Amino acid sequence: MSNTLPSALIASLEGLPGFDRESFLRVHASAEKITSLRLNPHKLTTAGQQAAVLESLSASGVTRVPWSEQGYYLPQRPSFTLDPYFHAGAYYVQEASSMFVEQALRATVDLDAELRVLDLCAAPGGKSTLLQSLISEQSLLVSNEVIKPRAALLADNITKWGSANVVVSNNDPRDFSRLPGYFDVVVIDAPCSGSGLFRRDPDLIPEWSPENVTLCSQRQQRILADVLPALKEDGILIYSTCSFSREEDEQILDWLSEHFDLENVEVPLKEEWHIVSAVSSQNCTGYRFYPDKLQGEGFFIACFRKKNGEQPRKFKEQKNTFLGAKERPRLNDWIIGPEQYEFLMHQEDVLILPKNLAKDISLLQQQLYIRKAGVKAGQLGQKELIPDHQLAASTLVSANIPGVNLSLQEALHYLRKEDPGIRADVKGWVLMRYEDMNLGWAKILPNRINNYYPKELRILKDINGL
Ligand code: SAM
Repeated sequence: MSNTLPSALIASLEGLPGFDRESFLRVHASAEKITSLRLNPHKLTTAGQQAAVLESLSASGVTRVPWSEQGYYLPQRPSFTLDPYFHAGAYYVQEASSMFVEQALRATVDLDAELRVLDLCAAPGGKSTLLQSLISEQSLLVSNEVIKPRAALLADNITKWGSANVVVSNNDPRDFSRLPGYFDVVVIDAPCSGSGLFRRDPDLIPEWSPENVTLCSQRQQRILADVLPALKEDGILIYSTCSFSREEDEQILDWLSEHFDLENVEVPLKEEWHIVSAVSSQNCTGYRFYPDKLQGEGFFIACFRKKNGEQPRKFKEQKNTFLGAKERPRLNDWIIGPEQYEFLMHQEDVLILPKNLAKDISLLQQQLYIRKAGVKAGQLGQKELIPDHQLAASTLVSANIPGVNLSLQEALHYLRKEDPGIRADVKGWVLMRYEDMNLGWAKILPNRINNYYPKELRILKDINGL
């Protein structure tokens, strides 16, 4: 596929802050590929664990993404599919520019506070996993995706990330009008014409047209207008695209400031980041990321504070079925600090929810179509808990649960849902681990091992010859 950019695109970018035609064309012609990822601070809690993962990914060393605490560039792209750390949720492979959401959040909110954060256009989960890493344990992240199969992928990635303070929903933006003034932060990483990704993914180039830019801009306005009532007074809106087009970037900032009572908030930049400040006609500042100026793809981001807004609606208390005092001890041995959680019965499943969020989450269950809430512990059978994969993937699972550390080969067999070929002294439900990181469950019986890795997550790639 050729990297030739549409001449109408180039013509439309002339005069934009920071746009340099020659170097922009040169960097697209180079077809250079940048690989970056962000570590999971809740799973890799020590510097030693982080170093071990980075070392395993690149013996020749990694470099830091300058605007992200957990972001790293790799000199080459390894096969992530064949890396058990990837499946264990040790890191998320994310384009570097978009990690700047971290700076936007740090500049606008108190991250120690109890926040309700909505990531409206969230699949596959890059921004959501970043937001989850930044907010406090007492805060709630609602990670939403309107397209059903993409919401399923999002839920899988949130499961892998492992935390209990996230709800994954599958709703249209307009459904959030049922929650007036509810959120402290709304992040809209809007669907866009995608020109910022043309260097990395030239297959997208033929889909670009000026008409599509116009359509995207109209859709972005619709999404913003639909969701803004759900942001509370003084709440923060973070808007981003991976488009270079002013119709989807600066012109959206102008439209926002003309139609809503919003105050633009600036994000401090360091000169050595080479991010370009772009001031719109209505004096709103956004930030442009050009691949010829920094190590990342095209990106645009801006922040606003809502100056006045709807008062949060009072909702009727929901009736929930929490696990009774008699049944609760059945879960105690499975998780760390069970007293911090409520155990909600949802059909046959037990869901683990942080105590301070249980009411919020059951309210959301009434208002939204929820794909995943908290961490699914599993089903309570007559004799024992039948544990769910979500529990194995979570940071909640007790260190006292028996586990077996697998070699690379064994781990890959396990992740292919094959017999990992191990001999273990333990019996019953056992965590299959790689370098002490949980991959999933197996049940070890006297004469065989049942592999409980979810079928839909299994590796399909051939591992022979590794
Ligand atoms: N935030 C994601 C991440 O960091 O991984 C990427 C989001 S992508 C730029 C935009 C998302 O918006 C897509 O998942 C797409 O399915 C979704 N989307 C498409 N049309 C939409 C609409 N009308 N309203 C809301 N979301 C939409």
